[in-house]
Amino acid sequence: MNPVTDNPAAPAAEPLLKVRDLVKHFPVRGGVFKREIGRVHAVDGVSFDLAPGQTLGVVGESGCGKSTMGRCILRLIEPTSGQVWFEGKEVTALGPEDLRAMARKMQIIFQDPYASLNPRMTVAAIIGEALTIHKLAPTKQAWQDRIVELLETVGLNADHMRRYPHEFSGGQRQRIGIARALAVDPSLVVCDEAVSALDVSIQAQVINLLEDLQAKLGLTYIFIAHDLSVVEHISDRVAVMYLGRIVELAPSRELYTTPRHPYTEALLSAVPIPDPTVRRKRIMLQGDVPSPIHPPAGCHFHTRCPKAQHPRCSTERPVLEQAADGHWVACHFHN
Ligand code: SF4
Repeated sequence: MNPVTDNPAAPAAEPLLKVRDLVKHFPVRGGVFKREIGRVHAVDGVSFDLAPGQTLGVVGESGCGKSTMGRCILRLIEPTSGQVWFEGKEVTALGPEDLRAMARKMQIIFQDPYASLNPRMTVAAIIGEALTIHKLAPTKQAWQDRIVELLETVGLNADHMRRYPHEFSGGQRQRIGIARALAVDPSLVVCDEAVSALDVSIQAQVINLLEDLQAKLGLTYIFIAHDLSVVEHISDRVAVMYLGRIVELAPSRELYTTPRHPYTEALLSAVPIPDPTVRRKRIMLQGDVPSPIHPPAGCHFHTRCPKAQHPRCSTERPVLEQAADGHWVACHFHN
């Protein structure tokens, strides 16, 4: 694939991030000699572009590869193959030193803020660690001032500096995680299920905070969640993943009003509608998500798809193609 011209899901502006044919397979080992006996196809050829200041929502059931994809983009996990370009540089080709410098611009916020914050460190030490590593505060005073500024940016205050993570609520801990990510002035932030562990009202507060920060700092987000209703509000475009592949990618509003892939239709049918007079027919998918060690041939979704037509669906992989302006679908029989 040509990274410039074969643009599978391009935003209008020059992309900040380009991902091409990203693949991550994990070996499965067994037997006395721990030989490789199979491979988990976690990410199976993902491509997209992301323009600066935009948010790409990524949704799919647990195990669909969305978190692995996010980590591969940042090279927290080494991809098996494929390319990632960020600000015009190929991240997947960088050596350790250049990668460290690049890592500053690409941050991640994790799902469980408590697990990702060292319980023995004060909030100041957690947020200030990256300032020290990247030499972003020349004096102790500058270091402290920057931490206070970051705390205030995320809705906390200077009094919180000397406290420990266990003294905070889940929502506050996630704010500390956001402040830590912002400490190094990133351009791209991967929010990996960043609000999934929070109560619905707290989710809304954190999403509003992320939107405010995006407007103020010009941040670009990849917002990963398993729930379509969570990503709707914050995303400019949404990618739906199933067993390691993007099956549909479209502007947010269009995806919610005119889904074209049977899997997206099924996911959307489970999203509650606030208007009690509107009823949506629930599409119940049969069976569980197949094992990513032995994903079904052809269309990965064919074993559960209510619209599958054989033999084509079980033998031929559908490619992501443009069904309408900016609306990409991987289905042989999409509407
Ligand atoms: Fe369903 Fe076939 Fe489309 Fe796959 S390609 S989503 S199995 S209709």
